[in-house]
Formats: sequence, structure tokens, C-alpha cells
Amino acid sequence: MLLKFKPYVRVLLNQEELKVIISRPLKDGDLGDIFELTPMGLDIIILLKDAISKEDIIKKLGIRSQSELEEMNEILDLLIRENYIGFENEYINNEDKDIESIYERVIPIWGEIESENNNRYQIQRSIMSKKVGLIGCGTLGMGIISKLITNGVSNFILVDDDTVSRTNLTRQPAFLLKDIGKPKVEVAKQYIFDRTENPQVTIYNKKVKNLLDLTIFNDVDILVVASDEYGVDELVQKYGNEKKITLSFSGDYTGSTGKIFPIVIPGKTHNYTCAHNYLYSVIGKDKKGFKDINNKFTISSITSIADFIVSISSFEILKYLTGAMQPYLINKILFFNFANYTIDEINIDSEDCNCLNMSELEC
Ligand SMILES: [Zn+2]
Repeated sequence: MLLKFKPYVRVLLNQEELKVIISRPLKDGDLGDIFELTPMGLDIIILLKDAISKEDIIKKLGIRSQSELEEMNEILDLLIRENYIGFENEYINNEDKDIESIYERVIPIWGEIESENNNRYQIQRSIMSKKVGLIGCGTLGMGIISKLITNGVSNFILVDDDTVSRTNLTRQPAFLLKDIGKPKVEVAKQYIFDRTENPQVTIYNKKVKNLLDLTIFNDVDILVVASDEYGVDELVQKYGNEKKITLSFSGDYTGSTGKIFPIVIPGKTHNYTCAHNYLYSVIGKDKKGFKDINNKFTISSITSIADFIVSISSFEILKYLTGAMQPYLINKILFFNFANYTIDEINIDSEDCNCLNMSELEC
């Protein structure tokens, strides 16, 4: 194993003043931290530009005394602890070289969560091996597909019973004029085939009506619900509980406000129904006794707002698919308002949890 600065780390050295600025754009933004260096620290920083073994550092710097050895170890320990440097394989194999030629800007991100036994290439391969089920190939569903495929997911099971209409082009830029009238699942499949090298896509042009309809998803790694069909969320939650399948309920929006739901991991998190009930108990307004006057209220939809939901939902899904990173939205619901760009979150800490009544799950 060799040591080297991780690919996402930027190092700015001031040799005259013995100072270095190290930043991890994922964590620190562009700022990073500034460190005062000892002369040995300076030498080590320069050596870590390329992959090098500890033994070679000792050799190159002519380290002999115990105190020098201790100083070197102290510096290396700090750099490892802060995730500035990582363990590099001596040789990058051909498969890794191949996936790097496609995902060279994605793989460095996984450097932050890699470990000695699960490096960033393995994490990328893990994502690429995952199968995603998706109900609903409309605005949110197509958006999630577009984000997941750019990160290496290419194996999908898609369900939708709708066709592309003229108005869909104002809500989802992936739809084309020539798609109007075609089933959304077929358009979605073509979209994936046009953009990924080894796609595996199974499509069902149908409605999901019962638990039996959902058995097509039995072997997915995550099932994403991006459908506004009434009752689908509850049905999928029931199915997820039974089959222990992780679920993502993208979110909903109207006008400039919306919310993004957490990833639901059976047995580990509150489920959708529980989250929904909790939300209702905290912010819900009692609509009992009120009737719709049928003024043809239309839910408004702007692509920027839908894209915002999709960006967060898909990143949460991706974190889950790495198998090495916990999604942020666990037992949390995110609220946003595009009128003034505010984001709020609430923690779902329902005490009289309903998940337990629905199944044998513990929240
Ligand atoms: Zn619960």
C-alpha cells in the first residue's frame, strides 16, 4: 500500500513561509485549513504528491533517529485522520482504468468514504452493480433517472402507465417533441439506452394496483416512488415492509414550496406512513368539514423546483447505493420554499410509532 493525497484534495504550498493550505472541496468548500510546517513537514507534503510507501519516505528523507521517526508518524497520522491522504493500490488494474475513463470526475468523491478494504473504485463498481426500481417516469422519475445514470446506475425496472403529452415538455426537459404520444416507460428506456454503455432496462406500461403488481421489484436494491397516483405510496410501503426493500419517496411540490421525504430502510428507520402521520400531527391543518369548491385548482409546476427535489433525492439514493455512506435524510423531512430559498427540516421522532402496527418492524 502506498500513501498519496486523495484525488479530491487541493494542496497549496508556500515554501518560503513554510505554510500549506489543504482543502477538501466536499467538506471544506474552497477554503480548507492552513498549517504551519516544519522542514520535515514540507518535505513530506511534496513527497505525497505521488504515491509513495512509508519506507520510501524514510529513505528519501534520511530519517534515522527515533524523534525524527515520531515526527514523521505524527504528520502522517494527522493527514490520514483528516482524510487528506489515503491508501493507494500500487497498480491500478485495467477494469479500474476503464471505469475511470468514464467516471473520472465522480470517483474522487468516493475517496472521502473509502477505506483500506473498500476503495473508491470498489465503491463506484458497487453503484454500477445496483438495480433500481422506479414507479413513475414523469417529471420527478425521469429527473431521478437522469441523475442516477450519470453516476453509473444502468440497471432499472420502470413502471408507468402514462404517455407523453405536450404539457410534459414544459415540466421535464428529457422529453422531446417526437416523444409526444409514446408511453413514458419507452421514452425513459430509450433515454437510458442513449446515454449508458451497458444498460439493462425492463419496462412495464401499466398501473400499480396491488401487492402482486409489485413483485416485479423483488430483486431491486432500492425502489423509488415518483408517482402522484393516489394510494401508491401506502401500497409500496406495505410491500417494502413485507419484502424488506429500501424505499425512496421522492417528494412533492406545488407553487414554490415542497418537501423531500427520507429514505426508508425497513427495520432501521421510520416508514413512510409513520413519517406522514407525524408530519400531519406537527404541521397538518385539520381539513375536516371543508369542501373543495371545484374552482379548477391546478398544481403548478416549474422545472427548477422539480429539479431541486430530484437533485437531493437522487443524491440521497446514490449515498445509499454506495453502501458506505449514510443518507442525510434518515428520519428527516426537508422543506423548501423557492420564494425566498429557505430550507427547513424536521426530525420524525414520533413516540407512538405507527410502523409497529403495520408490521413487525422496529423504528
Ligand atoms: Zn415509525
